Amino acid sequence: MAKRRIKKLLIANRGEIALRIIRTARMMGIKTVAVYSEADARSTHAAAADEARLIGPPEASKSYLNIDAIIAAARETDADAIHPGYGFLSERAEFAQAAADAGIIFVGPRADVMAKLGDKVAARAIAAAANVPVVPGLETIEPAAARDFAARSGFPVLVKAAAGGGGRGMRVVESLEGLDGALEAASREALAAFGDGRVFLEKYLARPRHIEVQFLGDEHGNVIAMGERECSIQRRHQKIIEESPAPGLAEATRAAMIDSALRLARAAGYTNAGTAEFLVQDDHFYFLEVNARLQVEHPVTEIRFGCDLVAEQLKIAMGERLAPVAAPRGCAIEGRVYAEDAANGFRPATGTVLDLRIPAGPGVRFDTHLAAGAEIGAFYDGLLGKLICWGADRDQARRRMLAAFDEFAVLGVTNTAGFLRDIVASEPFARADLSTRFVEEFFAEPARVEQPEMDAALIAAALAAQAAPSAAKAEANGRRAAAIRSPWAELGAFELWRRR
Ligand code: ADP
Repeated sequence: MAKRRIKKLLIANRGEIALRIIRTARMMGIKTVAVYSEADARSTHAAAADEARLIGPPEASKSYLNIDAIIAAARETDADAIHPGYGFLSERAEFAQAAADAGIIFVGPRADVMAKLGDKVAARAIAAAANVPVVPGLETIEPAAARDFAARSGFPVLVKAAAGGGGRGMRVVESLEGLDGALEAASREALAAFGDGRVFLEKYLARPRHIEVQFLGDEHGNVIAMGERECSIQRRHQKIIEESPAPGLAEATRAAMIDSALRLARAAGYTNAGTAEFLVQDDHFYFLEVNARLQVEHPVTEIRFGCDLVAEQLKIAMGERLAPVAAPRGCAIEGRVYAEDAANGFRPATGTVLDLRIPAGPGVRFDTHLAAGAEIGAFYDGLLGKLICWGADRDQARRRMLAAFDEFAVLGVTNTAGFLRDIVASEPFARADLSTRFVEEFFAEPARVEQPEMDAALIAAALAAQAAPSAAKAEANGRRAAAIRSPWAELGAFELWRRR
């Protein structure tokens, strides 16, 4: 396919990833258009782009998920390409198709490829046909066959939604009695969440690792891999810490997984950046799904390979050929900081960022959209930022991460940085005793912490925070997690976060 230039790129996303994409576009001399909802009128991503367009009210369904509004914004601003980021519309085939129909380059795989791979059942079939081992499972669900499968493979089994994502529509079933009910409930949940109630069964692996392969395909038939990422540290099946390379992974297993990912990508006719996810147990690996987009954890690959995956995506979208991959170096680890209260069941936190301190130093990167004054509301995913640290080896990356977390402070929004630091500081993490059960095995949810109604010391700290931000930063580095509600209405839901 002929080379074509992207002169103006619309970013159909918000938050840290929108800023991340705007930065690369600028480095490539590409103009940018941000889209934003009414809740994001004063957001950093809208301010950072060359142009910004309001696309709707705060509800994602009416703004960041509104295909017509986003395509209209691209047309009005003469954008010749759309980058979907991750989440929101990034894996919606009808969005990729709508862009193509409007003559706009979609930075991602073709709509038909995305549609095939977005369906977990169809993706399993493509994988199996390409000789890629899949998790033992059953695609057609009728109760008798399901009971038979469960009896043969043994409990627990996992009910999953064909259209699933983000852990929704997923249910672990421990015994035969629970099976019919789980099938029905998961199907109902999937229908409500994805408009598609199809479910299937997988054997529930007892203590697997989640390891995934980053791959890229161009329009000239070249497909390459850029190593693997270990994403085993999860909460409720959602990744919170990722790293590359996967520690201690047998070389033969790594090579076979990469080979499988490439076969799968070729079989699907994949173009642009994608990720093949696998579960690994006892040196056996099983295909889980393909994520047909940039992943949240892509920076660990970038840091290790010294590349810019967004730039690669844009070059592929312009019809360029893939260049050979440089050899990877050292180890990179990422921690996702969320606006959540780890001490209180990880309930979502909201508030205004009164002050913040972003870590820096050799091998330290922090991807964020935060700025003093930013409002963290309840409308969107609570990802505040990602700390990514590189080291010549895993131990150096780990130590840099600890030091970086010690420097990090957000005043005004309770967040999970202290929880992540505790994990990275732990003995099981240091010895890489990794599985998707890591958090429940070693970090069972902290007991509920009662919020002190009016703790004199914290009120004094809050006052000091207003008077002198530097005093607040020192306070934010204290040793025990705590949070308060301010009695001052004008501060709104003021919360002081202190690292444990
Ligand atoms: P989603 O697309 O909803 O995120 P995935 O299929 O990617 O769902 O799985 C997410 C996580 O759920 C995995 O990383 C793993 O921790 C867990 N999981 C999924 N399938 C299985 C399985 N068959 N056995 C054990 N754990 C699983």
